[in-house]
Amino acid sequence: MKYVVIDRGDDLSRRLTGRFHTLASAHGFAPDAESPDIVISIGGDGTLLQAFHRYNHLLDRVSFVGVHTGHLGFYADWQAHELDDLVAKMASDKPQYVRYPLVEVVANRPDGSERYLALNEFTLKGVGSTLVASIHINDELFEMFRGDGIVVSTPSGSTAYNKSLGGAVIHPSIESLQIAEIASINNRVYRTLGSSVVLPKHHHCDIIPEKESQRLALVVDHISIERSDIRSLRCTVSDKKICFARYRPFPFWRRVREAFLTES
Ligand code: NAP
Repeated sequence: MKYVVIDRGDDLSRRLTGRFHTLASAHGFAPDAESPDIVISIGGDGTLLQAFHRYNHLLDRVSFVGVHTGHLGFYADWQAHELDDLVAKMASDKPQYVRYPLVEVVANRPDGSERYLALNEFTLKGVGSTLVASIHINDELFEMFRGDGIVVSTPSGSTAYNKSLGGAVIHPSIESLQIAEIASINNRVYRTLGSSVVLPKHHHCDIIPEKESQRLALVVDHISIERSDIRSLRCTVSDKKICFARYRPFPFWRRVREAFLTES
């Protein structure tokens, strides 16, 4: 098995990375940062987002495993003290492969377009001014938005930024995207639904900034890009998915309960 470890960089995560290499070498696994079969993320959910963006060109053939150095996470099945068990299972068991949907965003500019993949969400914000944009669903005007921003999240990202905005938590087996508003202004000209909407895979959403030169922040998970030449953004559920290697069951609703409902 060829593997790579991405860690958060703190003392504990670095020590666990060292331990992982020692155990992996004893089992004959080979480190390979260029072409791994499996990406081990050691840190938090934020570390897994970084690992995803580093290896999202290999999504057709790579799987991910998360080790959380805090509490258990949404993308991490294993805790720090369980690292030896994880490596033993990687050596002896065939994992279950679980695939989660991603959001694809195509940003259209006068001289071309860029495509981004988000594991949690895509966020659009105005820079230095409120965002003014029309939102179209399946090529029909849906609403005129004016406010701080718009968040388009994946099902697995629905427990992140989307949840802070009052969006629904969506099970990752439902191929969909969710559009949530950040502080919309509502009056006679700018009127928004107010609640988040969930689109199925065969629908698409276009966001068209009112002013062609508006300075915008395009935030893909933790990566922020500023542009002032965006003509439109198309958001869809991607045909690509992220694949997690599960070496033991950890159901999504248990993750939600442990993160938000169980007292620590
Ligand atoms: P960060 O601001 O350092 O951390 C964001 C927090 O969200 C961390 O506690 C992280 O968990 C947690 N998280 C990440 N993905 C999650 C998920 N799918 N479900 C539940 N919690 C999740 O930023 P970061 O670590 O670079 O992560 C970027 C993410 O921050 C974005 O994708 C966005 O979802 C989130 N964010 C949230 C808000 C908000 O809720 N108001 C605002 C901006 C951004 P760990 O501690 O395990 O890493």
